[in-house]
Amino acid sequence: MDEAAIELRGIYKRFGDLEVIKGIDLTARRGEVVALIGTSGSGKSTLLRCVNLLEQPDAGEIVFNGETLDLRPGRDGTLCPASNDQITRVRAGIGFVFQNFNLWPHMNVLENVIEAPVHVLGISRQQAVSEAEVLLEKVGLGNKKTAYPAFLSGGQQQRAAIARTLAMKPAVILFDEPTSALDPELVGEVLGVIRQLAEEGRTMLIVTHEMRFARDVAHRVIFLDAGRIEEEGPPSEVFESPRSERCRAFLATHL
Ligand code: ADP
Ligand code: MG
Repeated sequence: MDEAAIELRGIYKRFGDLEVIKGIDLTARRGEVVALIGTSGSGKSTLLRCVNLLEQPDAGEIVFNGETLDLRPGRDGTLCPASNDQITRVRAGIGFVFQNFNLWPHMNVLENVIEAPVHVLGISRQQAVSEAEVLLEKVGLGNKKTAYPAFLSGGQQQRAAIARTLAMKPAVILFDEPTSALDPELVGEVLGVIRQLAEEGRTMLIVTHEMRFARDVAHRVIFLDAGRIEEEGPPSEVFESPRSERCRAFLATHL
C-alpha cells in the first residue's frame, strides 16, 4: 500500500469571493481508504468534485496514473494544459458515487450499469452485460436487473449506483455522503457494500458523517475545516485524541 494511487497538490477553489478550498495536499496510497469529515460547508464536496474535475480548480495539480495534470484554467476557461483526453482518462479512472445516486431514471438497473462501459470504454454490449451481472450479484441486486430506479428503495438505488461505478473499473472511487439521503434502516446495507470494497483493497475517498463506519473502515481520517486540512491521522488518533480544538468540538457533536 505504498504506491500513490492519486496525489493532490496545492488545490485551490473559489466561487466568486468565497474561497472554499485553500491549498489541499492529499495523497491516497493504493488500497487506502481515506475518510473525509467536517462540518457542513467546510468544502468536502467541492474537494471531491475537484478531484474528478466536476469542478474546475483555480490552482493545483493532480497526479494520477503516472500523469500530472496542471489544473489551472486556461484563458478560455478550460483546463490548462490538460487535454480533453487527459480529462476523459481522469473521469473514467476515478469513480464518483453521489449522495442522491444519480441513476438514469429512464434506464433499468442493468442498462444503467452497462451505459458507460459500452459508450465510454467501448466494450461490447455482451461483455458489459456479463460483467454487470457479476457486479449486481455482488451488491445484492441480482434479482433487480430489469427494475427501474423509481421502483427501488434508496438503499437499492445506491447499491446500483455503486455497481455502475465499479463497472468502469476505476482505480479510485470517491463517495460523497453515500448514505445521507437514506432512511436510517437502509444505511447499513450500503455501508456493508462499501466495507466489502475496502476489504478488497480498493482505493477510496469517502466523505461521511457515519463516524463509527469511518473509525472501523478508514485507514486515515482527514478533518476538513474551512477549506483546509485541520487534522489528519489514523482513526484511532483522530477519534480518540484529536490535537485540534476544532476537530475536538466537531467530534463532540458528531460521535
Ligand atoms: P460540504 O460538502 O463540506 O458541506 P461544500 O463543498 O458543498 O461543503 O461547500 C463549501 C462552500 O462552498 C459552501 O459555503 C457552499 O455554499 C459553497 N459552494 C459550493 N458549491 C458552490 C457553487 N457551485 N457556487 C457557489 N458556492 C458554492
Ligand atoms: Mg457536501
